[in-house]
Amino acid sequence: MKKILYILTAALVFSACSSESTEQTNQNEFKTYKWRLVTAWPKNYPGLGMAPERIAKLVEEMSQGQMQITVFGAGEQVQAFGVFDAVSSGSHQMGHSGSYFWKGKVPAAQFFTAVPFGLTADEINAWIHRGDGLELWREVYEPFNLYPIPAGNTGTQMFGWFNKEINSIEDIKGLKMRIPGLGGEVFKRAGGIPITLPAGELFTSLQTGVIDATEWVGPYNDLTFGFHQAADYYYYPGWHEPGPMLELIINIDAWNSLPDHLKIIIETAAKAVNQDLLDEYTAMNNSALKELVDVHGVQLRKLPDDVIESFRKISEEVIEESIATDPVMKKVYDSYSKFKQDVSEYHEISEDAFVEARQKGGN
Ligand code: CA
Repeated sequence: MKKILYILTAALVFSACSSESTEQTNQNEFKTYKWRLVTAWPKNYPGLGMAPERIAKLVEEMSQGQMQITVFGAGEQVQAFGVFDAVSSGSHQMGHSGSYFWKGKVPAAQFFTAVPFGLTADEINAWIHRGDGLELWREVYEPFNLYPIPAGNTGTQMFGWFNKEINSIEDIKGLKMRIPGLGGEVFKRAGGIPITLPAGELFTSLQTGVIDATEWVGPYNDLTFGFHQAADYYYYPGWHEPGPMLELIINIDAWNSLPDHLKIIIETAAKAVNQDLLDEYTAMNNSALKELVDVHGVQLRKLPDDVIESFRKISEEVIEESIATDPVMKKVYDSYSKFKQDVSEYHEISEDAFVEARQKGGN
């Protein structure tokens, strides 16, 4: 008898729990979500800064108003470099930034933005979405209670703005340059002084001599900041950021509270904007470069081959040394470098060979 009672009671308790959780799920299914998204970019900044705005708009439209996301520029609620902590702690549900800003907290995060002489935009998209990249990124961020989603790519950047010519690697010595991530580590090893500054402080810092040089993005974004008014030489190629990927980060508890259809909507909106941002840069960089050179008289310069070669060698040393002392970095880089090797082999005879053929044809 006791046994039967126990089974009956257990069945009742189970059924109560299960109907309670179904009710909870149903409530979440229809409830309205109002989230706050903090960014590392000035409010409404073209390109980078508009990416989270577009994600918010798409999510609201696709969810028919069930999910409303308010986007805040850097400094409005949280400073540019406070985005990671704000979302990790749950004070804000979402953030938009670059993972390499968090190298002091999570060194392995740098591989998900940009690696010197690493993957281009198409290639990092493929590693993240079709290789092991995204799974590794989520594993690396999980201890920080963060769920990352790729959300934008600028394409290959420019090396940046300088007030003197770079004729040899010796010219890097003592130069104070805003250059974040692994690129900054390489710059330091070359004798330079890398400085990390948020976007909003770059122009004034360059103009007042707080820094001697800065990298930012490329012609489209650099023109909006007016760097040509503070520096004469504009150097390429952007060996340090061949295809930087931006991140949408979400507090895991907030993420887990969402019904499945809203999770799918957010992932889909971010993926659409990830490509859309790259298209925007591809479309806008050309006319911006013409304006910089033809209207503003900017001196466009290619880094000498031996300087590029020095940066390449130093990059290999810096990465090798970093992964030797950090098993998480090693795990991520093993996947990244294997993907890079495989993808390079085909790209050498496809895209690289084609671009070379097109240039020789004079088109
Ligand atoms: Ca950059």
